[in-house]
Formats: sequence, structure tokens, C-alpha cells
Amino acid sequence: METPTICKCGFISVLARDPDSLVSYNEISNTYSIALANDLSPIIAFCPLCGGRELSDTQSMPECGCGLVLGWANEPNIPIEYDSEFNEYCLIAQDSRKTILYYCPICGGHLPKTERTSLFTTPSTEEIIEINERLKSVTTMDDVVRILGEPDERYGPIINDPEKKRVYGMKDVRQGLRYTSLAKTLVLTVQENEDGRIHVIFEGKPKSI
Ligand SMILES: [Zn+2]
Ligand SMILES: [Zn+2]
Repeated sequence: METPTICKCGFISVLARDPDSLVSYNEISNTYSIALANDLSPIIAFCPLCGGRELSDTQSMPECGCGLVLGWANEPNIPIEYDSEFNEYCLIAQDSRKTILYYCPICGGHLPKTERTSLFTTPSTEEIIEINERLKSVTTMDDVVRILGEPDERYGPIINDPEKKRVYGMKDVRQGLRYTSLAKTLVLTVQENEDGRIHVIFEGKPKSI
């Protein structure tokens, strides 16, 4: 009998419900496996997102000692890739969706630390508070443009696959506005979803090299 996959965050069961994810669930052994190649479907011992640990416990993690993920990333036919820009290992699903592997699914050790955070600014609390204050009474996208002015970029609509929406809890986007030059430390995105709700997203800006 295999040891059941350890996951504290619940993400692995979400992945297994996505038919394109390459991750599948075996009810009898209570294990998840990844279909990496015809003859290679290893059992996932540890969730690649949480490593099977509580989020408060990630400091005590050893590094991956088995080296399997690193080896698979060097195999052109195996859908695991190394992204040198962000220093990340990713599982590439059949629909090209990327899942970052933070922990080795086999030994549970942590994989190289992502450099994503060092490449982007950290949004300042002052700017977030200021923008939230300016947007506190908006109910429509026209309100947003009236208050903040024309965005640097408009996008949408974005229509997602119904199956993916169900699995990942995603919403279609009617329209989006992106403000890249409004604030010093952040990019502001305002999005109107299919349910008419307006979402405000703050993200770091790429640091200039
Ligand atoms: Zn997990
Ligand atoms: Zn490992």
C-alpha cells in the first residue's frame, strides 16, 4: 500500500479535478500521481505547493535531496521546465497552464527559492491606502476612469473554459483597466467580472535592470 499524498493546503485535489493538469487521484491508495511520460507516472508523496507542511512551518524545510525534478527539467519530453528568469521549476499542463513547484513532489524538500519577489517592487502600503480611498465609492468602470483618468492599457473580455472556471473558481472578465504609471511602487489593475463586481488588484512593478 502506498503512503497517501500529504497536502495541507488542498491544492493537489484542485489540480486533480482539472483534466489537463496531468495530476490524477487514485481513490484506493488515496494517492495522487503525475503523468510525466507514458512509462513515468510517479506517485506524488508531497504537495508541490505546501510540501505537506503547515505554512507556518516552511522555515524548517530541508532542500530537495533526490534531484529528480532537476533531472526531469533537463529531459525535453517531460513536461517539467526550469524558468531561469524566475529561478522556478514548473509543471506544464496539457493546456500549457504552468504550476510552480515550490517543493519536490517526491522527497518533499524545497526547490530553489523563486526570484520573482526580487524582480518586482513591493507595493507600498501608503499607495494602496491612497488608491483604495480614491476608489472607495466606485460602482462602475466609468467611475474608475472618471476618478483615475484613462488607463495605460485596456483589455478584455476574457472568456474562460467552463470546466476550468469550475475547477479553479475563476470568473470571466468583462473588461479590465491597467494603470502602470499611476503609482510609483505598484501596477493597479481594475477588473469588472462577469457578475458585475469590480476587483482592484495591486501588483509590484518590474524593477528596471
Ligand atoms: Zn498542499
Ligand atoms: Zn526531491
